[in-house]
Amino acid sequence: MKQIQLIFQDADTFRQEIAAVRDKYQGNTAMIQFFYDKARQEETEQAVAILKEEYPQAHYFGCASNANIENGMIAEGSVLVVCNIFESADVQIEIFQYVLTDETQKEVCDDFLARVAERPWVKGIELLITIRDMSTTYFCDRLSEMDEHIQIFGGSSFNKNLDRNDVGVFSEKGDFLDAGVVFVLIGGEKLHLWTSYITGWKPLGQKMLITRAEANRLYELGGEPAYDTYYRYLQIDNDEFFYHNTLEFPIFYERNGINILRVPSKCMDDGSLIMTSDMMTGSMAQISYGDPQTILKSIFHEAEKLADFVPDGILIFDCASRRSFWGNEDINRESLPFQTIADTTGFYTAGEFHRMGKSLNQHNVTLVIVGLREDEAGDSNKSKLLKKYHYNNEHVSMVRRLANFIDVASRELDEINQKLEAVNQKLMKMAVTDELTGIFNRREIQHRIAEAAENQEKFALIMMDLDNFKKVNDTFGHDEGDNVLKGFANVLKSVTEQEEASVGRWGGEEFMIMLKHAGVPEAAALSEKIRKEFSEIKFAASGVHTVSCGAAAVREKESADSVCIRADHVLYLAKHQGRNRTCTEDQLPE
Ligand code: GH3
Ligand code: MG
Ligand code: MG
Repeated sequence: MKQIQLIFQDADTFRQEIAAVRDKYQGNTAMIQFFYDKARQEETEQAVAILKEEYPQAHYFGCASNANIENGMIAEGSVLVVCNIFESADVQIEIFQYVLTDETQKEVCDDFLARVAERPWVKGIELLITIRDMSTTYFCDRLSEMDEHIQIFGGSSFNKNLDRNDVGVFSEKGDFLDAGVVFVLIGGEKLHLWTSYITGWKPLGQKMLITRAEANRLYELGGEPAYDTYYRYLQIDNDEFFYHNTLEFPIFYERNGINILRVPSKCMDDGSLIMTSDMMTGSMAQISYGDPQTILKSIFHEAEKLADFVPDGILIFDCASRRSFWGNEDINRESLPFQTIADTTGFYTAGEFHRMGKSLNQHNVTLVIVGLREDEAGDSNKSKLLKKYHYNNEHVSMVRRLANFIDVASRELDEINQKLEAVNQKLMKMAVTDELTGIFNRREIQHRIAEAAENQEKFALIMMDLDNFKKVNDTFGHDEGDNVLKGFANVLKSVTEQEEASVGRWGGEEFMIMLKHAGVPEAAALSEKIRKEFSEIKFAASGVHTVSCGAAAVREKESADSVCIRADHVLYLAKHQGRNRTCTEDQLPE
């Protein structure tokens, strides 16, 4: 494959140049893309007309751009015509073009997916698209349905003026469209593609939950207005420099398992942020930072991989916001390393598309890189790259060090907090639990009864005391006594599992249950169940045991103390009547 970049000067020159390409590469497959300044659309149309006359068998398409990349360098205001010429007739190209709006999205995806499915030869799809304020989430999700082996990459059309929305795409399949998409299908045995994306920005500080977002409007991060969070961490004022300042600290947005960048471009009165593209409620977000050195290092590492692929030509979809970040002087620093590997072209976009695994994602502030090659790879181009660029041993920037410091410090703080939280949970549990039996202690059960009485809730109490327990200790020892206490507590736990009940140890061998929404009959029934189950347990050393119970229910406006005393009286009655029984408050003498 050859990549020939022509810059449109005038009709006659272009006619000669394009005819020369045609004559030199006769019989080859030509894929010709135009990247142009929107203000020069007329000349672009002129160039297209000449191409159709002189080189009718060439496939062509194009889009308006923020700026072009010619031989790895930014070029503003040009009409760039990139001829990718494949020597083998085996390389196939087919183009589809659609009008694309929120209304036509579904139809477009349905139709296009069906067409791709009928073309097993497709290896890659380049897309040029207009996105304006459209959410691309649906579009990307639908295209992700495509067979996983198909690589997808591309960019969205833009204007030289960032504030302007007039953009455009076109192809051999139709007119210039203000709102549209062009898909370029490429494939064939001998075609090889390598795609990747790079941000170079690094995450900074805590992850935050996106608690509310609609399309490209981010309302809330972690439950508070998005701007408040942003201001708290970065103190970026909402003034005319807002976008320029936020560019250094865009937001990473987790989607399809990767981090995608979004830049806040504007702050609204309600504290919401207008982002460069859509974000989704329920995803995680994290502030990021970009510093030149870190970015260049990331680019260099990716370029090394691309050098091993040994491309014949390279295509770059570079975000227009990166251009704002670097400025026109320095922006070439991130595209020129690629030019050492192979001829590099592309444009500055309003959004970058890249498929990772199954998922197609629309990025911002990102570089999507595509290597194209025909036939097998020759020797790696890495040495050329390494000769000119070496970032590995350079001094680490201050911001990088500070960011690392923050990262480590916040991770350490996180760990400490988690440990504290675990200790806290344990202490809180200990404070309410009886150590021997694991049920509530006296203080907690008393507190619960007091609370219920104060709130004038309906509840009943069952007070229980093991019978002749002193003998157990005296005869079988204290340890066996403890066993029986634990055994009894287990009965209480299991019979109250389905009940709205609080179970506590009142003291020694006395226990208390508070049963919510219950009266004396329900309490008595439960009490009998407990008594019966306990009496059926045969302890290994001491055999069977019994318990006496008293049931009472709280009266209107009665205090906790008063109802507890009554329950105690009823329990005493049960003991008095001969133990191993449940008595109820109505049995008390007047
Ligand atoms: P009654 O049927 O009248 O309740 O007779 P009782 O023997 O159960 O009553 P008493 O109050 O005389 O004896 C309670 C005994 O419970 C006294 C004490 O040794 C024992 N006890 C209290 N707390 C514990 C404990 O935590 N572990 C053990 N093993 N025994 C305990
Ligand atoms: Mg007892
Ligand atoms: Mg007792």
